[in-house]
Amino acid sequence: MAATELQHTLAKSAGLTGTALHTGEKVTLRLLPAPVDHGIKFKRKDLADEPTIDANITNLKTVERATTIGDGAVRVHTVEHVLSALNAMGIDNAIVEMDANEPPIGDGSAAPYVEVIKKAGDFAQEASRRFFDVRDPIHIESKNGSLLVLLPDPKFRISCTQAGPNNRFTQFYSAEITPSVFEREIAPARTFVYYEEVQPLMDKNLIKGGSLENAIVVRGEAVLSKEPLRFADEFARHKVLDIIGDLALVGTRIRGHVIAVRPGHGINAELARAIVKEHAKIAALSVPRSFPPGEGGLDIAQVMEILPHRFPFLMVDRILGFEGETKCTGMKTVTINEPYFQGHFPGHPVMPGVLQVEAMAQVASILLLKMAKTASRIGYFMSADEVKFRKPVLPGDTLFIHAELIKARSNRLAKAHCSCVVNDAVVSEGDLMFTFLDK
Ligand SMILES: [Zn+2]
Repeated sequence: MAATELQHTLAKSAGLTGTALHTGEKVTLRLLPAPVDHGIKFKRKDLADEPTIDANITNLKTVERATTIGDGAVRVHTVEHVLSALNAMGIDNAIVEMDANEPPIGDGSAAPYVEVIKKAGDFAQEASRRFFDVRDPIHIESKNGSLLVLLPDPKFRISCTQAGPNNRFTQFYSAEITPSVFEREIAPARTFVYYEEVQPLMDKNLIKGGSLENAIVVRGEAVLSKEPLRFADEFARHKVLDIIGDLALVGTRIRGHVIAVRPGHGINAELARAIVKEHAKIAALSVPRSFPPGEGGLDIAQVMEILPHRFPFLMVDRILGFEGETKCTGMKTVTINEPYFQGHFPGHPVMPGVLQVEAMAQVASILLLKMAKTASRIGYFMSADEVKFRKPVLPGDTLFIHAELIKARSNRLAKAHCSCVVNDAVVSEGDLMFTFLDK
């Protein structure tokens, strides 16, 4: 898993030609390689100056029956199937070039795009992928009974319950989204429509390219299509396909579990917006703070003069400062290179709670030794009370470690209330007792 966490683009360009759903016209789509951090952009080859549109939630225009993005007066309709294929097949950067305002509908599934992507091949780039790691659940509910919940998960998973009018064709499908699962189990699932919804559009000639060759039509209890259902739960699988495509508009990959009940493009887009908002909030909070220079704090050399701990057990990078005689704040940058992440847990790195307690103990003993005004003794950690772990600490977090002396009985015993803070939220806390011994 870790080996695939570089950004990927296509090794070369490849394309396909087909029919546009709404206009019924012929359209050629080509997928082209793009540089690191480019993301997915659509290019309208048929317009003057060949404008491009970022496949980004801020460019979302409409969500009726399909997802349309636009910039200024330029539009690209029905982007979700090609975006789904690019995202799930692991392509982060690409240009989707078209000579019309929507991609070819193909057979109503994402399988033709998977074929094009495989024809082009993928190419690893020298930059790491950006992820949104779900920390707190996100929950969206609509008045018509649709529900999306996003939960923390080390993988990108989707579990979808689909139900038609009067709960006809209720289906459930759940999977971890990987390229092979997508290619085999999700990409071939075709678009389905309800007869009563498409009949008025057909009458108005708004879906000129629509036919039983590129959609399954549900009429009452009957399923009409050119070929039989590809999966017993094909509708639920297609809904998962659409969710992946709509959430691709977030622009970063997602590590989390999407629980969807009767999803649709509208609520999918709402979730995409909520994720972008949450991501911006976390990013703003984790912007590096400026550390007070030298005075008042202790740099790593000074910390190591006081503490005997060494790699991999030194849990303080720097002391930011002391407040009076009784308070001290230290910090620790938690990186993916911490040795414990290899085993805690493979593929799902979380900082062990006991090491946060150790970090608190180290900051508290620096405080106590400063108070004792001697370096000839060392504070030994005796006991911990009221220890609570409130939130997971992940690679990339900066741990702010606070220690406050609450009791000093004689100069042999002391008690400190300690907490670890990430992004202004307490992630762990406890009361630690120390005794002093000569070094
Ligand atoms: Zn679809």
